Amino acid sequence: MIFEHGDTAKAWQRRVRDFMDQHVYPAEARFHADLATGNPWALSPVVEETKAKAKAAGLWNLFMPPNHGHAHVDDRFEFEGPGLSNLEYAPLAEMAGNKVAQAEIAMIKVAAPRIALKVIDDAIQAHGGGGVSEDFGLAELWANNRMLRIADGPDEVHNRSIARIEFGKYRD
Ligand SMILES: Cc1cc2nc3c(=O)[nH]c(=O)nc-3n(C[C@H](O)[C@H](O)[C@H](O)COP(=O)(O)OP(=O)(O)OC[C@H]3O[C@@H](n4cnc5c(N)ncnc54)[C@H](O)[C@@H]3O)c2cc1C
Repeated sequence: MIFEHGDTAKAWQRRVRDFMDQHVYPAEARFHADLATGNPWALSPVVEETKAKAKAAGLWNLFMPPNHGHAHVDDRFEFEGPGLSNLEYAPLAEMAGNKVAQAEIAMIKVAAPRIALKVIDDAIQAHGGGGVSEDFGLAELWANNRMLRIADGPDEVHNRSIARIEFGKYRD
């Protein structure tokens, strides 16, 4: 079977490639210099600047659907984008080089639901019997977040990926 991307997908690929050439690759030296200054989790100014440029260029949330002019209920949690399909988005993700963050992505998929569950569990405890009732929605919130430790890939599978990446650094 001959597979070829359509014109729309190719146009997005050109836009992302141009952006990488103009803004991302030239910023890498500054990014590595920032990293070398110490805390690897600190916000890097050059990343923040480049994010702003990508947003201004319309290269943001590419897989999210457009909101068709409807106002968001809450802009902190609702996003919009051109609604690219998986097939259209996958080559763009490859270009953006997200594999470099593979370990951190696996780590956050394990850590974030665990932290959320701990916070919700503390809230349930503080509410006493009410916490496990339907009155406050906490039990439902806990169950929904507990699901993430399986549905987004079981913790064990992410931990296995993390172990492979970390041990792989010392293979020789
Ligand atoms: C609400 C919900 C929504 C979902 N949505 C999606 C979706 O949108 N898209 C999608 O593709 N899938 C989705 N899934 C499926 C989800 O990815 C699987 O449930 C998950 O990968 C676990 O597979 P499984 O249920 O077959 O359990 P199993 O594969 O039988 O795993 C059971 C347990 O075995 C252990 N285990 C399994 N594999 C390994 C391993 N390699 N190493 C070590 N331990 C392991 C873990 O402890 C795991 O919890 C969803 C699941 C749920 C519950």
